[in-house]
Amino acid sequence: TVLLSLGASGFVAIHVAKTFLERGYHVLGSVRSASKGTYLQNLFDHNFPGRFRYISVPDICAPTAWDEAVKGVHGIAHVASPCHHEDAVDADEFIRPAVDGTLNLLKSAAQFGPEVARIVITSSNATILEQHDPPYVYSNKDWCNFAVEEVNTLGNAASGVAKYMASKVLAERAANDWLAQNKVHFDITHVLPSWVYGAPIQDVHSPEALNISVKRVYEWFVDGLPESQLPTASGWYIDVRDVARAHVDVLEREDLGSQRLVVSRAENPAYQDVYDAYLALPDAKRPKLPFPVPRGVPGIADDVRCKFSTHETAEAVLGWKFRALGESIAWTLEGIADKGLFS
Ligand code: NDP
Repeated sequence: TVLLSLGASGFVAIHVAKTFLERGYHVLGSVRSASKGTYLQNLFDHNFPGRFRYISVPDICAPTAWDEAVKGVHGIAHVASPCHHEDAVDADEFIRPAVDGTLNLLKSAAQFGPEVARIVITSSNATILEQHDPPYVYSNKDWCNFAVEEVNTLGNAASGVAKYMASKVLAERAANDWLAQNKVHFDITHVLPSWVYGAPIQDVHSPEALNISVKRVYEWFVDGLPESQLPTASGWYIDVRDVARAHVDVLEREDLGSQRLVVSRAENPAYQDVYDAYLALPDAKRPKLPFPVPRGVPGIADDVRCKFSTHETAEAVLGWKFRALGESIAWTLEGIADKGLFS
């Protein structure tokens, strides 16, 4: 049995749960409320009868929050954390659940989870991004400092992006510091995804309620983009199936302990590249959409953005390749259509 921190609205975590279940594990999912647990129970019971159950952990900032959840589990995947960029939300509302939620989990596992051998924590490429110019190549040796500085200087007036990034930096550093100071029976691996695309299978009923990364794809295709934006960076990316596979591999494979795994494709595509990659797919690989697909201005994008050294690092360590942009985008759109969110 693995413990997985998630929620009915958790885009990434639900895919991680599904992948654990597909590989034969029993999954205990922590949720904030029973109603959220019911959605997940219904989602998984059909294909994986009896192997998913949930436990309510209403407030991950409470010091004893995880004490019950960690009992009897062999591994833990900690995915749940505030994941949005809303400027109006206080810095503490990002940082406390990220940092305290993680530290409380580690402390509970140390005390009440004697069988826990490894904990995989979902961090973010936000923890490595500084403001470098091309041709700089980011790697897992880099640390983001500017976001923490912005939050330290501006407090709640800092941007939502900076607050989110700071929450991930501080959580990753807090886990590493805690581990350095405490002798425990488990190790920790951080998985650092970039923008995660893929079919939403969470409990979502409107485009506005989509998780932040899938919502971007929705907006690019439904609303289209102004020509001035097309050549600019859309951000590094990764398919959610690859993120999920990395989490499960980390708990399964002895050799993946104590890593900082940047799970990201190397390139940072321009928005135009997103349209081009999608339109380059054969017809059969593109979902039928109830609106004309934007084409942008083909050929407008260059390739002068910083890259990630993921081919030499995460892909080599994991031993498999990350999916390409067009395939991820097509599957994201197909998933949004399956949820009925285009009508
Ligand atoms: P979602 O917004 O879809 O899910 C966030 C999850 O965290 C939900 O399960 C939510 O639970 C839970 N959560 C949020 N705030 C709290 C809180 N205060 N206390 C307890 N649980 C909370 O985001 P994603 O699935 O995309 O993100 C999941 C993880 O992946 C995060 O750690 C994020 O930083 C990381 N990540 C995501 C990327 C992306 O592009 N999506 C990129 C890089 C990293 P509930 O359902 O109860 O609200």
